[in-house]
Amino acid sequence: MAKPSTSQSIELNSLRDFVIEVMDSMEIWSKDKLTSLTEIDLGVLRKNATQRHGVTRWKKGVLKPSVPEQVEVIDLHPRLLSEKWKPYAAWVMHHEFVHALGYTAHDSTFRSLESLWPSEKSSQMGSEFTEMLRKEKASWLWVCSTCNKEYPRQKASRGRYLCRICRTVLQDIPNKASQ
Ligand SMILES: [Zn+2]
Ligand SMILES: [Zn+2]
Repeated sequence: MAKPSTSQSIELNSLRDFVIEVMDSMEIWSKDKLTSLTEIDLGVLRKNATQRHGVTRWKKGVLKPSVPEQVEVIDLHPRLLSEKWKPYAAWVMHHEFVHALGYTAHDSTFRSLESLWPSEKSSQMGSEFTEMLRKEKASWLWVCSTCNKEYPRQKASRGRYLCRICRTVLQDIPNKASQ
């Protein structure tokens, strides 16, 4: 958890307003519930987080979270706050808002509420986002000279690995894009 900068807060707030507008059009959420979502504090995850793209943190001592008022903060990955990732950022925020409304488990009820989000494509951007974060962290790219597939990794492969697609021995190339 990190404190958002002023520009990140502006991005987060405009994303929130957009997501709530879309949720309003779903016609299953009351105005009261949507209003309480607008009062949730928004933050950012640490920049080097790769596993999670968003998280709903509940206030300490809340045993059975059920309403947005019990949310301490919703954090989104800071890299989501760019024009390129906006559709996926909105999808992640909607996912967290469904949690905040009291649906804490990823069960079938949660999934059906989550699927009310109108853009199917935006959820599919998730794996692309993960791949981008992984690639930035990787010191090495294991590259296939046959099919050009790249595998971003922390360690060199030293000739020990084959391409999953075409079984060619992978080559090590230092990753210039790594941070
Ligand atoms: Zn979740
Ligand atoms: Zn290959």
